[in-house]
Formats: sequence, structure tokens, C-alpha cells
Amino acid sequence: MNDIIRKTIAWGAVVLMAVACQSQKVPEKSTVGPFVILKLDDLWYEDELVHPGWLQAIEFLQEQEVVGTVGLVGKSLEAAAPEYYDWIKQRAGEGFEFWNHGYCHCKPVVEGEERREFRGTDFGFQLEQLSKTQSLAKEKLGMTLRSFGAPYNATDDSTALALATIPELEVWMYKETIVPTTKFLLDRIQPVNIEYPVHIPDFDKFKKGYEAYKEEEVLVLQGHPRSWVDDSARFVAFQQIILFLKAEQAQFITPYAYYLQTREEKQS
Ligand SMILES: [Zn+2]
Repeated sequence: MNDIIRKTIAWGAVVLMAVACQSQKVPEKSTVGPFVILKLDDLWYEDELVHPGWLQAIEFLQEQEVVGTVGLVGKSLEAAAPEYYDWIKQRAGEGFEFWNHGYCHCKPVVEGEERREFRGTDFGFQLEQLSKTQSLAKEKLGMTLRSFGAPYNATDDSTALALATIPELEVWMYKETIVPTTKFLLDRIQPVNIEYPVHIPDFDKFKKGYEAYKEEEVLVLQGHPRSWVDDSARFVAFQQIILFLKAEQAQFITPYAYYLQTREEKQS
């Protein structure tokens, strides 16, 4: 082989490598949509099985290859049918994140007054509610929950203190209190939602909110799949929202994955 041929082959290899590297390049931020976290609330069983509203929502997300997240009510893990646990474990295996949505989703009465599970109740009570759900998830599902979102998004100073004692819970969605926390926060942007008002998905209102906030780094969209079986138009609107977000090249992600990614970016 003479020198010219050798050089030509070497140059060809360099060009090929450059092309290969380029094709693997991550798209520029401007060419893709925002990160989107689907904060779906209130997983509970019905007649010992996963509620039909959840089944249709998750099935649709699976068809669309979109990841979602599920707010788990801890008490539902106490004495469910095996199918319930299996369903959760399978979805978790597919990448869906299950997060701590309290233990009872109840409105405890304190001193004759109706409170929320994480607002207006004391530190000890709140810690117990959080811990019970963490323990049940470990015991029944072999799972460590990493994110928290309060029922009714209602919290107070005791919530921040209780969460501080549970290091494995690292992400807090929709924190509404001003008390400081070391948790990673995923804030609510009120105008961008799935439901207007709560329980009723509305594509047009969502689109309006989205257009106003699509430059945000991350959008955390809340929904309640159990309510979407009450009227077929609700589920249709949810489907429209997902298809629209896909067309916008939204990057669907879970709270914990988003937190880990952000932490890595900061460290590098
Ligand atoms: Zn809820």
C-alpha cells in the first residue's frame, strides 16, 4: 500500500468518525420542548383492583411510550389483593415513578376542627403518616419512594420538619409553605395544568397555559385519572393534551429522574 492510499483510508476513517459523532449528538435545547412531569394523584384500589380510571390512563401512556408518575396513598398497601401490588410493581419496572401521597388522604379532626393530613396536624402525626407509607412501600413492594406530594397539596411547617427526618424522600412537589427545606422542589405553575377545575381535563385551557409557560425548564402537570371515567370527554381531553405535548417534543420524565439529572448537571 503506498502512502497516498494509506492517507486516503486514514482520512476516510476520520470523516466517518466525525459523521458518527455528529449523529449521536444530543439535540440543542431550543429544538425540543420542556421537561414534563405528569403528577397523577390518588392511586387506590376499587373492588380489590386498580381503578378503571387508572387502567385507561396508564394504558394510554404506555401506548404513547410516555412515562407518568403515580401518587400512592399508603393505606391502600395494607391489605390489597396480590393483583394490586403486582400492577404497581410492573408499572414501576416500566419506569413509572410511584411517590408518597400520604397515608390516609384523610381530613383529621383536631380540636373539633377539620384539618388536612399535612396541614394543621402536629409534627408527630405527620411524621407517622409519611413513615407508614414509606414502610409499606418497602414491605409490600420492595420499593423506596423518593418523592412526596401532599393530599390537597396542603402542608405547613410541621411537614418540612417531618420530611427533614426522612432523607430518602428527596423531592417535594407543589410545596406551598414558605418554611425552608433542603428537599429538591418541583413547583406548581398554576395556569398550566391538565384539569380546569380539578378533576376535569380541558385541552383548550391547557394549551393557553402551555403557550404562556413553554419556555420553562420543567412543567409539573397534575391530574386525577379516577375522575376521568365520569365523562368520556375528560379522558379525550387528557389524550389530546398528551398528543399535543408529544408533537411539541416535550421530554416526559419522573420527579426523581429529573432531580438526579439536575444534581448531576450542577456537579459537572
Ligand atoms: Zn390526592
